[in-house]
Amino acid sequence: MKTAVQELDLRSAGSLDEALRILREEPRMPLAGTTDVYVSLNFGTLEPRRFLDIWALDELRTISLDGDTLVLGALATYTALIQSPLVAARLPMLIDAARLVGGVQIQNRGTLGGNIANASPAGDSLPVFAAMDAQVVLRSVDAERLVPITRFYTGYRTTVLRPDELIVAIRVPPVGGRQYFRKVGTRAALAISKIVIAGVRGPEPRVAFGSVAPTVVRAWKTESALAAGAGIDEAVRVLQGEIAPIDDLRSSAAYRHRVAANLLRRFWS
Ligand SMILES: Cc1cc2nc3c(=O)[nH]c(=O)nc-3n(C[C@H](O)[C@H](O)[C@H](O)COP(=O)(O)OP(=O)(O)OC[C@H]3O[C@@H](n4cnc5c(N)ncnc54)[C@H](O)[C@@H]3O)c2cc1C
Repeated sequence: MKTAVQELDLRSAGSLDEALRILREEPRMPLAGTTDVYVSLNFGTLEPRRFLDIWALDELRTISLDGDTLVLGALATYTALIQSPLVAARLPMLIDAARLVGGVQIQNRGTLGGNIANASPAGDSLPVFAAMDAQVVLRSVDAERLVPITRFYTGYRTTVLRPDELIVAIRVPPVGGRQYFRKVGTRAALAISKIVIAGVRGPEPRVAFGSVAPTVVRAWKTESALAAGAGIDEAVRVLQGEIAPIDDLRSSAAYRHRVAANLLRRFWS
């Protein structure tokens, strides 16, 4: 690592209450699986020097139902999701997404809370949660609030998360219809997405994209067009006005526009 370890100040929490109390006392960057944080530490681009290890908080690992709502603990790893019968029954597209995250090592350590808080527009779980109208559960010492994931991001890599809060869970309500997830990257494994689609084809179609704008995008206008019975060519035209991909080192805006259209067609057929 280019960062000297002795410059870093690390505390560990043994319980959620303790973690929240520490964050109330002083700002510290939470460390979950650390798979994103290590990359920035290695490149020497990480500003924070004070960290809070939350990996031991087993209370944030549970995957359960609250009535009809699937509740995924923030520390649920991709491996835990892949192995969960509940997720397979309720949210199979999240399993499709989890299987394509990194490789097995990353799937064993990477967490949902980390993917969401890291706020990359290429985060693979984000379109799944956007398509499902999921809510992010944020907790501080004295309050808990629920933020729809479509309002969690305020811009490129910025969120409404406060320094004294942790993501504790993601609540996913049931949505009727057939789920679809597709990630397009340079290769099938260990590739950061060039573009991602997650959709539900049911009475109320839902579709969300990753890597086509500074934040995950719910294609509201495209959905309305599809719900109103528009043909797929018309829906693609609406979609092209709804997304704003950029040229970057992974892909070009023109390519992303074209692939987004192709993915929408494939989802709808
Ligand atoms: C080789 C490699 C391949 C990868 N492939 C993919 C991929 O295919 N798709 C993909 O989407 N990502 C990929 N990633 C990125 C990363 O693995 C995921 O984003 C992962 O989900 C991050 O989870 P983590 O627990 O490791 O987060 P960490 O690195 O621990 O944290 C990431 C950020 O989230 C914050 N954070 C973590 N948990 C919480 C919480 N509960 N509350 C508040 N803030 C929190 C941290 O403070 C930090 O800012 C890859 C990374 C590597 C190194």
